[in-house]
Amino acid sequence: MEIIGLEGMTGESLQMELNRGGKFVIFKYCISIIIVTSKQPSDIYFIKSGQGTFKISIGYTLASLLLGWWGLPWGPIYTIESLITNCRGGKNVTNEVLAYLRNISEDITQPGGFVDRGQIMHVDIKCPKCGSEMVVRPAKKGPNAGRKFYVCMYYPECKGKIPIE
Ligand SMILES: [Zn+2]
Repeated sequence: MEIIGLEGMTGESLQMELNRGGKFVIFKYCISIIIVTSKQPSDIYFIKSGQGTFKISIGYTLASLLLGWWGLPWGPIYTIESLITNCRGGKNVTNEVLAYLRNISEDITQPGGFVDRGQIMHVDIKCPKCGSEMVVRPAKKGPNAGRKFYVCMYYPECKGKIPIE
């Protein structure tokens, strides 16, 4: 899962933005290939309070208008659905994203927690125990306190981890 717009933010600044009305949204678009029309969700965008979504959503809206509308029967229907969603500022998925972020890192909305794309997902590194995605977390206690590890996103159910050099 990719989240755009969190670069350089800490858990504190994310929490502050959320309190001020920031939200995570996805936009919709549809593409028709020959006669098959498929609905696609966009990447997830974090929209700060007061930040407009038009510039982001216009690309998806145009893609639907150019590539999606002519596939029958669903092209026009999905295109209109995409237009409505995008004009309303995207589909709000803040609760889902926050649940996901809390699941992969309990530190994320705590003071000093880290939020950036690199911290959220490591596509290249898979859990040695279960093959899931891993996240970066510092050890809080014990002899390795402060040292960073790749930790399975399903921690604590899965204990897979790899120390970072
Ligand atoms: Zn695992």
